[in-house]
Amino acid sequence: MENSNSTIRTVNPFNNEIVKTFDTMSHEQVSSIINKADTAYKSWKKTSFATRSAIIHKVAEIMRKRKRELGELATLEMGKLLKESISEVELSADIFDYYAKNAEKLLADKKLETPFGEAFISYDPIGVILSVQPWNFPYYQVTRSAAPNIMAGNTMVLKHASNVPQCAKLMEDIFIEAGLPDGVYNNIFLPGKDVEPLVSNPKIAAVSLTGSEPAGASIAGAAGSKAKKSTLELGGSDPFLVLEDADIDDAVETAVYGRMWNAGQVCVSPKRVIVPEKRYDEFLDKVKSTFTKLKVGNPMDDDTDVAPLSTEKAARDVVKQIEKAKEQGAHILLGGKRADRPGAFVEPTLITGVTSEMNAYYEEIFGPVFVLYKYKTLDEAINLANATDFGLGGTVFGTDKKKAVEVARQIETGMVYINHVTGIAPELPFGGAKRSGYGREQGEAGIYEFVNEKLIRVTDSHNAY
Ligand code: NAP
Repeated sequence: MENSNSTIRTVNPFNNEIVKTFDTMSHEQVSSIINKADTAYKSWKKTSFATRSAIIHKVAEIMRKRKRELGELATLEMGKLLKESISEVELSADIFDYYAKNAEKLLADKKLETPFGEAFISYDPIGVILSVQPWNFPYYQVTRSAAPNIMAGNTMVLKHASNVPQCAKLMEDIFIEAGLPDGVYNNIFLPGKDVEPLVSNPKIAAVSLTGSEPAGASIAGAAGSKAKKSTLELGGSDPFLVLEDADIDDAVETAVYGRMWNAGQVCVSPKRVIVPEKRYDEFLDKVKSTFTKLKVGNPMDDDTDVAPLSTEKAARDVVKQIEKAKEQGAHILLGGKRADRPGAFVEPTLITGVTSEMNAYYEEIFGPVFVLYKYKTLDEAINLANATDFGLGGTVFGTDKKKAVEVARQIETGMVYINHVTGIAPELPFGGAKRSGYGREQGEAGIYEFVNEKLIRVTDSHNAY
């Protein structure tokens, strides 16, 4: 199993020590796994909902039972706070339960009104789904993709990020422990750069990727060239728009802790905080004082607020983005450097004065970096919120909820949350607009992405027209 040249390995970002290395799979190994998934599909698609549901409920049960062990492993591999890892495991279990409970109802035949005969939609599985997932939520990302598809009767080949191999393997083991037949869910160890050729394998029916824009473009391009369906969940630069009537204490607390969640490595993190001029000074003062309370430290400790980034490279890249912003004239009011300790830490950073001439205005910063903007009119604020190619999530903060909803309607993203950040729940859809991708995961919508919505129409031959 050990191969020191492999990029598939556990490196603890708290101290940057290599913990474990895994061999990359050969072309033959991966092909044989895809064949196995295709063979398993032939029987899994005929397996009853009751059987599928019992197994998937069992997956949820195992995850809850082993949540501390799973949580510690995620924290070891990608550095997030243990309390965040454990709540991610609980959320994932809830998502498995949601689809185990609701898939049969959601995929029941849907009757259509037609003047002649009867017509209905039958929701059929389509085959082996290739799913490519990132490290920032090592269990939740797998769950969002696997739970609806396995319940729908598809099988899955899952390529997880190279820095979370033990989480990837553990998920596969949990499916097996829960009684999922061999070949229905399959982990592969392969670097991202070698994934694209798999898309053209005739046994891969469709692909789904969550990650960066370049990776998404590569996979979706390959899928398009073979006329296969794809879904993409990509990056974001979510606005956090504060209205004049907002409770500023609440807004500051929500924005700062929202931005520091997962050390800022969340696709739907409040990456651009947009505040009215009239409340700006008050807001800024409170942000500064909230920053002084943030404790950077060991992610395994309960009282730590800011964890290391996922890798040394991630930390270096974020600092480069901060330095670029400074060089281009932005004000670094707090932080801005690597924290003075071993590991992939970056200081919680507060930036103001970013303008449309600067890279920071357009780029996603995947780290604990709080960027504050000021607006005079609401139109200006909405334009600023939409001044990005990304369109994933966003927040509107205000006490007049009706007004906040009116503003939310004008924001060009796939999700807008009023008075909170990222309200993830199994029954709510998740996905983006613009360059943040297409397709939806979670909720009812998530189960229809990779099924054949097949029309069946029944008439006597003489009254078909
Ligand atoms: P990334 O480099 O794109 O990695 C994501 C996954 O894609 C990994 O499994 C990676 O494998 C693989 N990959 C990399 N290059 C590939 C290629 N050319 N072809 C196929 N697969 C490839 O993403 P990241 O930078 O680690 O993750 C952070 C990004 O993901 C951010 O932009 C974040 O906003 C986004 N994200 C979006 C969502 C959402 O729901 N919209 C959720 C979480 C994260 P290796 O690890 O082996 O390179």
